[in-house]
Amino acid sequence: MIRTIVKHPDPILHRTSEPVGAVTADTRALLDDMLDTMYAAQGRGLAGVQVAVLQRVVVIDIAWKDGAPEPLCFVDPEIVWVSDEKAVGEERCLSIPDTPTAVLRSTAVRVRYRDREGARQEREFEGLMAMVMQHEVDHLDGVLILDKAA
Ligand SMILES: [Zn+2]
Repeated sequence: MIRTIVKHPDPILHRTSEPVGAVTADTRALLDDMLDTMYAAQGRGLAGVQVAVLQRVVVIDIAWKDGAPEPLCFVDPEIVWVSDEKAVGEERCLSIPDTPTAVLRSTAVRVRYRDREGARQEREFEGLMAMVMQHEVDHLDGVLILDKAA
């Protein structure tokens, strides 16, 4: 089910989201709605707060625009390592339409999280995936690209 995306300057976007803990059927329904919403909005990532749910949940798919979809769900994602190497990239946000913004990010990250089934995972990402991951985890802490424009 497609949900409404909250747009800047709605103050909810600056609030900190709460940990989910156990992954339930409700969590999975939320994640599925977030994927539907992200694809409908032509996005590559979406955080819970962007559909007005203050839970630490993120969906990302960096592949679907160029081929087969590869949806990834992150519950309580925690960035446990970032590379010293950083790069400036131009980012877009579904909550801030038509405002591409240059942001400085680490080029690789390691993330600890629970997947859609609730299993603990730890994975390393680089390039576009690392950039999107940092963007979405920022959302969980109430931080927007406008707050950290390079
Ligand atoms: Zn965003």
